[in-house]
Amino acid sequence: MRAHEAGALHATGYGGPPQWLPTPTDVNELMPSLWPQTVRRDSRARLEIGGVDAVTLAEKFGTPAYIIDEADFRARARAFRHEMGAAFADVGGGAQVYYAGKAFLCTAVATWIEQEGLCLDVCSGGELAVAMRAEFPPQRIGMHGNNKSVAEIRAALDYGVGRIVLDSFDEIDRVSAIASELGVVAPVMVRVTVGVEAHTHEYIATAHEDQKFGFSLAGGHAYKAAERVLAASETMHLLGFHSHIGSQIFDTAGFEVAARRVLELQTRVARENGVELLELDLGGGFGIAYTSEHHPLSPAELGAGMADIIRRECRAEGMSPPRISLEPGRAIAGPAGITLYEVGTVKEVELEGGLRRTYVSVDGGMSDNVRTALYEADYSATMANRCGQGEPTLSRIVGKHCESGDIVVMDEYLPADVRPGDLVAVPATGAYCRALSSQYNHVPRPPVLAVRDGVARVIVRRETIEDILALDVVEPVS
Ligand SMILES: *Cc1c(COP(=O)(O)O)cnc(C)c1O
Repeated sequence: MRAHEAGALHATGYGGPPQWLPTPTDVNELMPSLWPQTVRRDSRARLEIGGVDAVTLAEKFGTPAYIIDEADFRARARAFRHEMGAAFADVGGGAQVYYAGKAFLCTAVATWIEQEGLCLDVCSGGELAVAMRAEFPPQRIGMHGNNKSVAEIRAALDYGVGRIVLDSFDEIDRVSAIASELGVVAPVMVRVTVGVEAHTHEYIATAHEDQKFGFSLAGGHAYKAAERVLAASETMHLLGFHSHIGSQIFDTAGFEVAARRVLELQTRVARENGVELLELDLGGGFGIAYTSEHHPLSPAELGAGMADIIRRECRAEGMSPPRISLEPGRAIAGPAGITLYEVGTVKEVELEGGLRRTYVSVDGGMSDNVRTALYEADYSATMANRCGQGEPTLSRIVGKHCESGDIVVMDEYLPADVRPGDLVAVPATGAYCRALSSQYNHVPRPPVLAVRDGVARVIVRRETIEDILALDVVEPVS
C-alpha cells in the first residue's frame, strides 16, 4: 500500500487504529524503547531530553525543532563499535563500523563519529565537504554513490579517502582516469547486487537485481567489474566487495544469504586472479523502533549473528575471513533524535462505523519529515509540555502543508484535551528527517539542536525566509 498522491482518502483499506496500536492505559506514559535514553518526564510533567525540558527548548529555540540527545547518539555509535569489535575479535580481520552519513550529517555529528572511533560513509560531494570541514581523517572515509561526478571523485581522491565504492563500468573508467591524472592509486571496492530481497518496504530495499545500484552477481557483471579493476592495477587497488541489501531490516536472514553469495564471489575472484581481497562490506540497514510494532536487534545480537555467518561461510569456502565492515546509519542517528512541534489546530472528524479521529495540526509536516508520506512510515508521539488529562483519543498528527498526504504521525493516541499551544514530540526522527527535508511551500527548515547535561546548542541553525529569498533572483523590470 502506498500513500496516494490525491490524499489519504484515496488510499485503500484504512479504517480504525492499526492492530499494533492498543488503547493505552496511561496516554502520557513513555515507552522506553522509542525514546532517547535521557528522555523522561520532569517534576512538572514536561518531557525532558538531555536534561533540558521541552518548554524551555521551545521558548528558546522555537518550533519545530529537531533535537538530538548527544549522549544517546554517542552511546549507540560506541555500542556498534564495541559490540562489532567484540563479536569479530576472533574472526580473521575483525570489523569496522562506518556511520552512513546520509542518515544525518553535520559538522558536529562528523566530529562525534570521529571521536567515538567510527569510520564515515559519504555519498556526495556535499557530504564529503562536511567531513572535510570536520577534519575527518580521510583514511576512515568511504565514498558511495551510483553516479559520482568527476568533481566528486577528484575531491575524494584529493582528500585521500580510504575507499571508493564502485557502482558501474563507466565509473571504473572514470575513477581510473582521475587517479592516473592525480598520480594516485585509488583504493576501491566493487558493489554487488546479490539478489536478496530484504524484508522491508519495497521502496527502501536495494538488492533486487532490477535496481540502479551495483553490479549484478547473477549476470556475471560483478566478476567482470573486479577483473577490470584488477587489470588497472596502476590506478586502482581492489580491497574487496560491497553489498547493501536494504533498510529497516529486523533479522539477519537477509544478510546471511547476501554474505554467502558475496563471499563465494570474493573467494572465486581472489583464487582465479591470484590476489588477496582483505575487506568485505556488508552494508547497513539495521532496523529501529518507530512504534511498539518494531523490535530491533541490539548491536550485540547483530554482531553475534553477523560474526557467526562470516565464520561459517568462510569455513565453507575455505578462505580466511576478510575484515568486515558494516554501515549503520538509521540505527545510530534515528533513535537519538526527536522532533518538537507546537499544536496549531485541533479538529475532530467522524469516520465510518461511529469511529472518530482527532486531527492535530502542527507547525511543521512533510517538509521536515517526509517518511510518512514517502514510505508510509509509522511514528508515535506524546504531549511534551504537560500530561494530558483527557481520555486517550485516536489522533492523526498532520502538518501545515497544502497537501492532504501531509501526515507526520498516521495513528497515535493523544489525550482528548490536546489543544492549540501544546507541544508534541515525535521520537525516532534522528535519521532521514532533516536529511530528507525540503522547503515545500517555502516553509523554512527547522534547526537541529544537540542537548547534553542540561545544555542545548544549535548544531544546524534554523533556516529563515531570508535564506529562501536569497536564492530567488529578482529580475529587473524591463
Ligand atoms: C543507506 C545506506 C546505508 C545505511 O542504511 P541505514 O538503513 O541507515 O542503516 C549503508 N550503506 C549504504 C550503501 C547505503 O546506501
